Amino acid sequence: MQNLIAGNWKMNMCKKEALSLAAEIHHLSQQQALNCELLVCPSFIWIASLSEMLNNTGIAIGAQNCAAHASGAFTGEVSAAMLASAGVQYVILGHSERRALYGDTDAIILEKCQRALEAGLKIILCCGETLDERDSGNAESVVAHQLRYVLDNLTTLNADNLVIAYEPVWAIGTGRTASPEQAEEIHDAIRTLLCNHFGNEMGNAIRLLYGGSCNAANAAGLFAKANINGGLIGGASLKAADFLSIAQAC
Ligand code: PEP
Repeated sequence: MQNLIAGNWKMNMCKKEALSLAAEIHHLSQQQALNCELLVCPSFIWIASLSEMLNNTGIAIGAQNCAAHASGAFTGEVSAAMLASAGVQYVILGHSERRALYGDTDAIILEKCQRALEAGLKIILCCGETLDERDSGNAESVVAHQLRYVLDNLTTLNADNLVIAYEPVWAIGTGRTASPEQAEEIHDAIRTLLCNHFGNEMGNAIRLLYGGSCNAANAAGLFAKANINGGLIGGASLKAADFLSIAQAC
């Protein structure tokens, strides 16, 4: 399987910055041999320009969200089909910021996953426990519940259109990374869940990303683990050199 390094730019970068970050990532990616797929997930508004700019560069474009409905009177929403028509290949769904701040429940996330798959997008399905849930010994069961809710209700998933990102909420944007051992413990449990659900061949072929304060200094230790197949990178994806150093660690 090819590892995936995905940059979640969140609500950062105005036009000039977004275009120059993408150009720099492209430039740096050409200076080195990378052993992974690169993906950038800018704000919706820059997707069309970046999709033109990065066409045929090998750097894929992703979105940070999509609508739960296919089309219609949903002011302010962006549909999965619109994203696909603008050149998007991946969509991040179930991110903890969407769950905590925008009311994305498991049921809504499932709807969004359905719309994304119908539009031919690949899903990066995020899961992760809060600090309280970890401290009370429930990290694994919280993650399993979040994943099962989606997996049990979708029939069109395969190893190409499903990527899982384990992102402990206490590690996102906090500078506090899960240790490689802590991350691998959950990744290993997710791998077992996937193999039980889909069978070993497909379960072992699905990419599992780690996310949460991953940076150039800690990436190699994380990616050395058997079940960590890349990263979903927030803050460190906003500097091209850092993002590419993380990709080099694959
Ligand atoms: C994220 O929000 O997906 C993330 C991993 O953020 P950060 O790398 O900034 O912790």
